[in-house]
Amino acid sequence: MAAIHSSGNVTTELNLVRFFRKEGISHWRRHQKIFNVRPDFIFPKQRVVIFVHGCFWHGCKLHRSIPKTNVKFWREKINGNKKRDIAVLRKIKHFGWKPLIVWEHGIKKYPEDVIKKIKKALN
Ligand SMILES: [Zn+2]
Repeated sequence: MAAIHSSGNVTTELNLVRFFRKEGISHWRRHQKIFNVRPDFIFPKQRVVIFVHGCFWHGCKLHRSIPKTNVKFWREKINGNKKRDIAVLRKIKHFGWKPLIVWEHGIKKYPEDVIKKIKKALN
């Protein structure tokens, strides 16, 4: 179970990198720490931060599926992640940076929209 789900984010991040290259989006850094947070991508010049959220780990409304065993554990774990996500976004905004969330399902199903949103944030 853990192995399946924890690989989701890395795949999504690498997919996003592929789109960055294809679209000529540059000057990003991956996994660089700012304000004690380590976002998946940052664009220091534009002060844009991107978090890549796996549908499972971040409790995506469309694809949340709590495993059938250890329900309580998973529910608490995912709720904890969601709470942390909210706090992190607040912090990023507080420092005047713009946070964007890219969902695993977004980059899989409608990457054009995701890229458009990112480009808009960068301009
Ligand atoms: Zn999803």
